[in-house]
Amino acid sequence: MPSPLRLTFDSDALVSNWRWLAGSSGRAACGAAVKADGYGLGARGVVERLAAAGCRDFFVATWAEAEALGEWPAELSLSVLHGVRAEDMAFALSHPARPVLNSVEQVNRWREAGGGACDVMVDSGMNRLGLSLTQAAGGALDGLAIETLMSHLASADEPERQMSRRQLEAFLPVATTVKARRRSFANSAGICLGQDYAFDLTRPGLALYGGVPHKAAAGHILQVVRPEAQVVQVREAKKGQTVGYGGTHKCKEDTRIAILNIGYADGHLRGFSGTGRVLAGRAEMPVVGRVSMDLMAVDIGREAVSEGDWLPIDFDLPRAAAQSGLSQYELLTSLGHRYQRRWT
Ligand SMILES: *Cc1c(COP(=O)(O)O)cnc(C)c1O
Repeated sequence: MPSPLRLTFDSDALVSNWRWLAGSSGRAACGAAVKADGYGLGARGVVERLAAAGCRDFFVATWAEAEALGEWPAELSLSVLHGVRAEDMAFALSHPARPVLNSVEQVNRWREAGGGACDVMVDSGMNRLGLSLTQAAGGALDGLAIETLMSHLASADEPERQMSRRQLEAFLPVATTVKARRRSFANSAGICLGQDYAFDLTRPGLALYGGVPHKAAAGHILQVVRPEAQVVQVREAKKGQTVGYGGTHKCKEDTRIAILNIGYADGHLRGFSGTGRVLAGRAEMPVVGRVSMDLMAVDIGREAVSEGDWLPIDFDLPRAAAQSGLSQYELLTSLGHRYQRRWT
């Protein structure tokens, strides 16, 4: 059955975003984070397009995500950010992906099993994953064949740079003393902080998919994801009547309303109630009333909109984030399963 809502992913925009990030990474190689199923776009489709454009390094969160990518080509590198649990070991040892070892326990598990090349995460101040700097400098990594030594920035997307600079200063001594083939530090926002943060390999995610992590990226990052929903019904609400659950929107005049086949079960969450926008040619039509589970109402004014029409939802990520109160990351990774997905 053809779905009444769809997502179109723009291959050229994805590749253009990667090229801009690669250019901004200077001499460092530029990889791609494809965890959470390519931030909701479908990891396989993303890997295929970025590999064709020259990207060689990919990152997923878990071994289940590595497995879902299918047979992994030898010429590409895949890192599993959460490292290895005991229950991952059999699969991990048989798979070309490398674990990103995050704790002394993980390091010992990998070393004792005679696992080959690995990556290592050190914590430079975020207090999320990674060995402490003391552990890393104190011999915990001895004897490992480290391909990539990495750390992760906590607030590179905030205007205040002090935290990032402190993390950089914390990472530098370990980055220079621990033996590894490559060093990696910057995510999308980190790339915007300049060459000092790039090291040998960068790891953007969000900006590949159209997220703007930092003002330096504005105007360079193109929109990749375009949701559209079909009109189920066009109706007229009279002056003084209300629209939707809770009657939160009261019509100031007789109003033509289109009911669209999209709702919070599709990840188009309640934050868009009264704030979202739907586009018809040059016209912008406001979402009115509360978003329901499967439906959403828009004020179509005098626009020629009929039952069965497809209307594009405004999904410019910085704008949609401001409208909905969600982060650009949440907007992408919440996209539901009812969309028909296609690449152009
Ligand atoms: C998710 C993630 C990235 C990508 O971050 P973005 O902010 O989406 O660019 C890079 N490195 C690590 C360790 C991550 O977890």
